[in-house]
Amino acid sequence: MPQATPKLNAFPVFMRVEGEAVAIIGGGEEALAKARLIGQSSAALRIIADAAEAELLAFIAANGAIHIAAAYDAAHLEGAVMVFAASGNEALDRRVAEDARRLGIPVNAVDRPELCDFFTPALVNRAPVAIAIGTEGAGPVLAQMLRSRIDRMLSPSLGPLASLAASLRGTAERLLPKGNARRRFWSAMEAGQLSQAHDTAVDLLLSNAPASGHVALVGAGPGAEDLLTLRAHRLLMEADVIVHDALVPEAIVAMGRRDAERLPVGKRKGCHTKSQAEINALLIELGRDGKRVVRLKSGDPLVFGRAGEEMAALRDAGIAYEVVPGVTAAFAAAADFELPLTLRGVSSSMVFTTGHDLKGNSLPDWAKLAISGATVAVYMGRSVAAEVAGRLIEAGLSPDTAVAVVENASLANRRRFHGTLADLPSLEVRADLTGPVMTIIGDAVAGANFERSEPLAAHRHEGAAQTAAEGAER
Ligand code: SAH
Repeated sequence: MPQATPKLNAFPVFMRVEGEAVAIIGGGEEALAKARLIGQSSAALRIIADAAEAELLAFIAANGAIHIAAAYDAAHLEGAVMVFAASGNEALDRRVAEDARRLGIPVNAVDRPELCDFFTPALVNRAPVAIAIGTEGAGPVLAQMLRSRIDRMLSPSLGPLASLAASLRGTAERLLPKGNARRRFWSAMEAGQLSQAHDTAVDLLLSNAPASGHVALVGAGPGAEDLLTLRAHRLLMEADVIVHDALVPEAIVAMGRRDAERLPVGKRKGCHTKSQAEINALLIELGRDGKRVVRLKSGDPLVFGRAGEEMAALRDAGIAYEVVPGVTAAFAAAADFELPLTLRGVSSSMVFTTGHDLKGNSLPDWAKLAISGATVAVYMGRSVAAEVAGRLIEAGLSPDTAVAVVENASLANRRRFHGTLADLPSLEVRADLTGPVMTIIGDAVAGANFERSEPLAAHRHEGAAQTAAEGAER
């Protein structure tokens, strides 16, 4: 049975209060809190308190509120559009609520939800933009937590920017065709900083031609959704098309704009994949169509992601692009292992490699670096594990050198293994590892935390374990 969406018992609305009287009854802390909240609006505050505390008196003076310094009387409510019973005295608050109700004025009684016609939200104020968070009184702490999170997320210039946008609305509607061009203008406006917004707006309006496309090569990080950068998230939310690799988890692809088109381009052994030339051509075609494209790659786009070829193709085609870095798999694996990639006195350099260049006759330069103490991160290294170990040992690296391996780094189903260079070949013959695997070799690995990891060599299996998850580069 489909589950019914729970219904709200209190429905949020934004009420016009400009110049209207809002009455607050009470002289203490509760009244001050409500006064501060309503003081964020242009309502005329009327505070009824025969004994107001000093802080409230200061607020009244500073904000030009009306102070009725008398014992409460129902007549004090007259003409108000909202009433707050905030005296801290239950009998008085009840009387205020009853009077307000009789006069047909919505009332809120502090800490007495049963007397309330309405609740006040936790408020993020970027006037004229307001974000009001309500929990029907169930979770004031939760509401405050959400409030501060949203507050941190939104630029202080959002409000003025929205006002500027409002002032340009008529012009934009006249000059820009409905649909893509107009939406792009508004999202560029929203993303911009206020100082640039005016220039941006004028440029966008004057160009008055449907804007040309743009491709963002975006790092999706190692897999965990919350390792996506805020910039990557913003671009995903603005995308018309998301072109993604197989290694990027569905949950991250799903974080994009709901009606964005999603095009998987494979790069997974055994699955239908597009060739790199086909991907380049696709990106160019989408760019020429004026689309906002997010080319989503696992980890960092510039690390074994063939971004070099995509950027060259876009450059040649004259399509604008940008690169958004991401958390590369080596960093996620190191974090999962609490492994210091550089370690004072032990390792001061780091190599990103695939190990696939070990097949030639001469040793690649990085093998020499490994011997002189560099920490080595091996991408796509499962199928060449024996080769990597063999050549490094042959070149003079001790077979006892520490090795850490992480499958599905950053994800809940990650697995960690540790051992030595001599154990590394066993990786090739394990059939139980089906996710992407990162191998880190070097003396710095000895500084990792092996508490939750399994020994590398313990598990021996027949048959090669070349899995689908490897080989994003091919
Ligand atoms: N651009 C990516 C790397 C793509 S190459 C990045 O910066 O991370 C694909 C290889 O990355 C895989 O074969 C594996 O070695 C590694 N990899 C990617 N995600 C991983 C993960 N979550 N855990 C372990 N290794 C990962």
